[in-house]
Amino acid sequence: MYEASLSYAEAQDLQDPLNKYREQFYFPQRNGKDAVYLCGNSLGLQAKGVKGAIEQELQDWQDYAVEGYWAAKNPWLYYQQYCSKPLTEMMGASVAELTVMNTLTVNLHLMMLSFYRPTKQRYKVLMEAGAFPSDQYAVETQVKFHGFDPEVAIIEVSPRPGEHLIRLADILQIIDAESDSLALVLLGGINYYTGQLFDIQAITAAAHRVGAFAGFDLAHVAGNVPVSLHDWGVDFAVWCSYKYLNGGPGAVGGAFVHEKHTSTQGLIRMGGWWGNEESTRFKMEKGFVPKKTAEGWQLSTAQVFNMVSLKASLELFEAAGITALRTKSTDLTNYLEYLLEQVKGINFEIISPNNCRERGAQLSLLFPDRGKEIHQQMTKAGIIVDWREPGVIRVSPAPLYNSYRDVFHFYEIIASIASNA
Ligand SMILES: *Cc1c(COP(=O)(O)O)cnc(C)c1O
Repeated sequence: MYEASLSYAEAQDLQDPLNKYREQFYFPQRNGKDAVYLCGNSLGLQAKGVKGAIEQELQDWQDYAVEGYWAAKNPWLYYQQYCSKPLTEMMGASVAELTVMNTLTVNLHLMMLSFYRPTKQRYKVLMEAGAFPSDQYAVETQVKFHGFDPEVAIIEVSPRPGEHLIRLADILQIIDAESDSLALVLLGGINYYTGQLFDIQAITAAAHRVGAFAGFDLAHVAGNVPVSLHDWGVDFAVWCSYKYLNGGPGAVGGAFVHEKHTSTQGLIRMGGWWGNEESTRFKMEKGFVPKKTAEGWQLSTAQVFNMVSLKASLELFEAAGITALRTKSTDLTNYLEYLLEQVKGINFEIISPNNCRERGAQLSLLFPDRGKEIHQQMTKAGIIVDWREPGVIRVSPAPLYNSYRDVFHFYEIIASIASNA
């Protein structure tokens, strides 16, 4: 049904109800026109509303100073809630289970301090082999912090020899085999390298059956694939906001803690005044009383300038709706896959799952040779995609601002590189 032609791509854009959001974003310029930007998996584009949103906070700071906490157009006291509310739908969580604070790796450490409390008997962490380096370092140092040997305490699940993806059956098998010693399952919801989306629900249920916690790094899921963290019973999740969520470089990270843990105050966590019950926060008394929400993990006062860009972008997500975005995303990426199958003359393999329900927006193209050189040629021709050692070009059409035409232009350029090869 797909066609490898510009007129087909243009017709799809005309029919696309989400196409209007494209003009809400700034595209970097290449060769005098908009770049073919397929790199939202790494850094999302700037929404045009960001500048005005930042100026609003600057103006309110200028006009109100300390009174801005209450008197600003968007009172600063509860600023994180302007972001947690629009996240509810895409995360499948209540406002009380969500917050934005710190950055991803910091939040991962904070969550592990609550959810990784190893004992002599139960101390192992299951991760995916080749997890994002920051996650590997976080888990390694947490394990050492508790006096365990990472070589023994960290179990990695790998693809089978000759395969690129991790089989669910292999994850479940390890969970069962380690049932007495497993403390925590910690996976990326989508693997950053292959684009594989894991079955978060099945993995969470398996972890719980053996008495372990299940936490997920949703860096590549947030704003890409809607999830149902509450219904699936996930214990905690963390993510960053500068990839598909377009929060800007170094933007505030996000965290989810399931209601079964927030409502009891039973879990130990690191305390700070912003995580304390509001009724007693300003009494400046002894004794930390955590809020009965995910904000009970918050340490510091809301970082307004680190959240404002995310707030502006989330307004667009809310208007577009994550379900409609996911529908478009699936079709855009399927179209990209179809077009790539037409390319002859260069050697590469799509290592992301074939099944669109097992991936998000991203396709990872593995080049056995010449990958770096091809990436350079793409860059020269006006494409922005990223290169990941040892041999992958990641291509991610983001449904909020990418078009069928973008995907077609990418195909034209890679096809012309192939025909000159
Ligand atoms: C992008 C990404 C990170 C980045 O962590 P920061 O603390 O935001 O720098 C961590 N883990 C994964 C899986 C990522 O994709």
